[in-house]
Amino acid sequence: MSQNLNGLIAHTEPKASKMIRQLREQGIEHSELLAFMEQVPRHEFVEPAFSHLAYSGTPLPIGRNQTISQPLTVARMTEWLLSYARLGRVLEVGTGSGYQTRILAHFFNKVHTIERQKLLHEQAKARLSAMGVNNVEYLFGDGQAGWPNRIEMDAVIITAMASKIPLALTECLKPQGILIMPIDHPTPQIGCWRKEEGDRWKCLGTESAHFVPLLEGIENA
Ligand code: SAH
Repeated sequence: MSQNLNGLIAHTEPKASKMIRQLREQGIEHSELLAFMEQVPRHEFVEPAFSHLAYSGTPLPIGRNQTISQPLTVARMTEWLLSYARLGRVLEVGTGSGYQTRILAHFFNKVHTIERQKLLHEQAKARLSAMGVNNVEYLFGDGQAGWPNRIEMDAVIITAMASKIPLALTECLKPQGILIMPIDHPTPQIGCWRKEEGDRWKCLGTESAHFVPLLEGIENA
């Protein structure tokens, strides 16, 4: 007796493809961004004990009490940059695991990234170098002071929640530059602003999101 088993075989969708499908359902539309996020091995950026959850829709530990943002938040922030920013030079505050840095490095000519935790800074640098990423400059320091020599940026992205926006981070933005940062009021959210004439800011979008806090100083451990 022959029986057709095809209908009974459970096909498991690859985890990265599932993540991309969910991002589409959540409103991410940029096809090049979705295609690239499908390629990036997110499991290599999280703590090994959590690598099986790397493609789920949640933030995950990356060491030193810090977290990698959920895929939707990373995708939304990047989609704003791709929609509104000149893709020249971008400053990222909060390198963390280097996951967001990896994505920025694909689309921008040059990425400058600052991390206040020495261990995370070193790990991210080693991880991205091993992946052959060579258009990123890494700085171990307090990102609130901005990048040394005040290089002008096309965009600034802050990946930790600040109560006040450090002046050095708005001053380094070119006219029409794009600022992406989390804010805590009225509720925790991420926002995208454009620097307009007379130092006015035009809000281009907001979305609810949770972040670890932006902290002062550095940690050498
Ligand atoms: N973008 C990261 C997520 C980072 S979580 C990723 O994709 O993994 C936020 C990071 O900001 C943490 O690593 C934290 O140590 C760092 N951070 C917090 N305050 C900072 C500051 N003042 N300067 C630089 N980095 C800071």
